[in-house]
Amino acid sequence: MNSPIPYGRQSISKEDISAVVKVLESDWLTQGPCIERFEQTVADYCGAKYAVAVNSATSALHIACLAADLGEGDTLWTSPNTFVASANCALYCGAQIDFVDIDPRTYNLSVEELERKLFHASKTGKLPKTVIPVHFAGQSCEMERIAALSREYGFTIIEDASHAIGGRYSDTKIGSCAFSAMTVFSFHPVKIITTGEGGMVLTNDPSLYNKLVRLRSHGITRDSSLMVGENHGPWYYQQIELGFNYRMTDMQAALGTSQIRRLDEFVAKRHELAKRYDRLLADLPLVVPWQHPDGYSAFHLYLVRINGRQTKASRRQLFDTLRAANIGVNVHYIPVHTHPYYQSIGFTDGMFPESERYYSEAISLPMFADLTDVQQDRVISVICEFFKGKFC
Ligand SMILES: *Cc1c(COP(=O)(O)O)cnc(C)c1O
Repeated sequence: MNSPIPYGRQSISKEDISAVVKVLESDWLTQGPCIERFEQTVADYCGAKYAVAVNSATSALHIACLAADLGEGDTLWTSPNTFVASANCALYCGAQIDFVDIDPRTYNLSVEELERKLFHASKTGKLPKTVIPVHFAGQSCEMERIAALSREYGFTIIEDASHAIGGRYSDTKIGSCAFSAMTVFSFHPVKIITTGEGGMVLTNDPSLYNKLVRLRSHGITRDSSLMVGENHGPWYYQQIELGFNYRMTDMQAALGTSQIRRLDEFVAKRHELAKRYDRLLADLPLVVPWQHPDGYSAFHLYLVRINGRQTKASRRQLFDTLRAANIGVNVHYIPVHTHPYYQSIGFTDGMFPESERYYSEAISLPMFADLTDVQQDRVISVICEFFKGKFC
């Protein structure tokens, strides 16, 4: 049996390991100096003013929604083609959730569909308070057009850029928040850079920043100007709202700061792998990922769609063949509204047909910085054999 190839995995260097060990030998394992250094490094990299490191992107989405004042009686819209966390954050805040179907070419939330749905919602008084565009697979949504709609209809934009650190949109880095109030990153090991578990919120707005910092740590402040009544002394703090313990450790932050040195290299390698897949899969009945000429994807995922007009082979057959060859393919994503929990709160199959059609045809192929040409050739040869041998 060939050794397994996962669909994604971290790349850890000797420098990464020694950065973490150095923290373990220091005075601070959490709430120490590594957090601010990591935040500053990411903010500088992206061209945003502020960054708040937390223990996951899920936590980041939660406090971003709270900072945007999302609550009971409000509605949040996102893409059905995402990980459930992009939608769950609305429900954590007691808000309603709804979805905007995807663009058949980019698999991102469709701006035409968003515009149509906003127009309709403005007639019925059901406009969303927040919209979360998800930069699926690392490719940016059309932020300029979404930002124009946010000005027209008055919603806040939180970008879910869990797949997209290191990518660009037009002449901005993803994470600059040039077209949004806040942007969220994930540092889970399958993502572009990792801290084990971890996430971050970026913003250019000082009041959102202060709120995010408080929500990360119990809603507590040490700032006298925010306190009710007098400051009792140097030990004193007040809890002025309901927050959480969503803090990142210094070990994680040190790993993140070390990883970011190789971020551009990681993304360049992902582009090389993508180009190679594009070239070597070109003659097969597969749709390879379309790339907007105005952007630079972080290429978190490389996914192909079975082209039903060119083959009778099914996604399931190709998936099983690759898995049987010890190749860890995956499917991103099961449309959020089709999960039993979402069906229990009123969604039904067929509501967002483009995302469901896409889901029935897609496979994510192995894509990570340390994937070798030899490993990639193995993936490609299994796919070629599948189509030639049995189904073409
Ligand atoms: C991974 C992911 C998340 C959640 O990230 P965690 O850091 O694991 O909480 C949220 N949204 C998207 C689109 C993701 O891919």
